[in-house]
Amino acid sequence: MIDVPDLLTIEEALARVLAHTRALPAEDVAVADAAGRVLATDAVARVDLPPFPSSAMDGYAVRATDTPGTLTVVGRSAAGHPADVELTTGQAITISTGAVVPDGADAVVPVERTRSAAGAVDVEQVERGENVRPRGGDTAAGDTVVPAGSTCGPAQLGALAAVGLELVRCARRPRVAVLATGSELRPPGGPLGPGEIYESNTVMLAAQVRRAGAEAEVHGVVADDADATRAALERGLQADVLLTSGGVSVGEHDLVRRLLAELGAVEVFWRVAVKPGKPVAFSTRGSTLVFGLPGNPVSSFVGFELFVRPALAALQGSSEPRPAFLPGQLGGSLLRNPARDELVRARIENGGIVQPLRGQESHMIARAARGNALVLVPRGDGELAAGSAVSWLPL
Ligand code: AMP
Ligand code: MG
Repeated sequence: MIDVPDLLTIEEALARVLAHTRALPAEDVAVADAAGRVLATDAVARVDLPPFPSSAMDGYAVRATDTPGTLTVVGRSAAGHPADVELTTGQAITISTGAVVPDGADAVVPVERTRSAAGAVDVEQVERGENVRPRGGDTAAGDTVVPAGSTCGPAQLGALAAVGLELVRCARRPRVAVLATGSELRPPGGPLGPGEIYESNTVMLAAQVRRAGAEAEVHGVVADDADATRAALERGLQADVLLTSGGVSVGEHDLVRRLLAELGAVEVFWRVAVKPGKPVAFSTRGSTLVFGLPGNPVSSFVGFELFVRPALAALQGSSEPRPAFLPGQLGGSLLRNPARDELVRARIENGGIVQPLRGQESHMIARAARGNALVLVPRGDGELAAGSAVSWLPL
């Protein structure tokens, strides 16, 4: 088959996917369970952080103007046990890290810069504010700590908990049905008959779905039979997103697009100027998004990263759903494809060198498994020389 020059570009196809994608309704999520979730509303601090002026050191809380000097020790402030005193001139209290700096005190002398003597302490000089974390110095009550559209990683979760939040609002996770098509496919573990291969796309796609923060429902494999495929597609169309693999090319067994149309799905595009994965199809039925990924395992994998992952991010309300390509330097030369942008499996080596893997055909999933990056090789003539600046997608 020849390359059709007016296929959609990756960018155009992605824009159409995102134009059909709205964030799902929000629900309350416990912060403790929110790793990987995307905030639907700004998360706002309930308290100043720190909530009180607190000591950055173990030592003595003092008035800076009293230092250096010998001060009377009038109490103790430990973490969780504030001293019930207001410091006046000539006084100090012992204080531990994270404890309340009492009224009247404006600095903490670290214990290493003091010498204690019965009921009193000799302290070296400190400046006003030294070793005191001011109330609200990190964030103030009412401030946004994590904005809507952010994905919650460990640091964001720590911030949400620190400002007193137990629950956050997040779009619910998309439910994604994964269906493989092909009469030749057998489950791993059993024997292979003549002409059969092990089915690998559902396990791969389900893992990609889960890593994208969505829920995968694996619907298994359906043979290249119209009635069986129609029934399986109808079941898959009940999900928020249906991913099919195989059956979207131009062979007589490629039933998926025709049957989806029969079931009322409206095709938005079919075929993109990308290698691998050109025959990818995208349609919608009601609010369900349907991605018909090509059966070749690497084509399915790449099609997911380019189009499905962004859609799942947008369904979760991410403010940055597009693939996050990084700049790098090509480690070896590559021949460009004249008609299609190519995503070449590669390994990132030290210093950000992107080393293309050997064996770039779309069935070569075992070769692809050695990679940890996809390098974008824009369409064009001739070769992209070693050392060229490239964009790459971490996997
Ligand atoms: P298709 O897109 O259905 O024409 O399939 C293209 C190639 O991918 C064929 O060699 C299929 O045997 C293979 N293939 C299709 N689906 C899968 C799958 N789920 N797991 C592994 N290989 C597959
Ligand atoms: Mg097939």
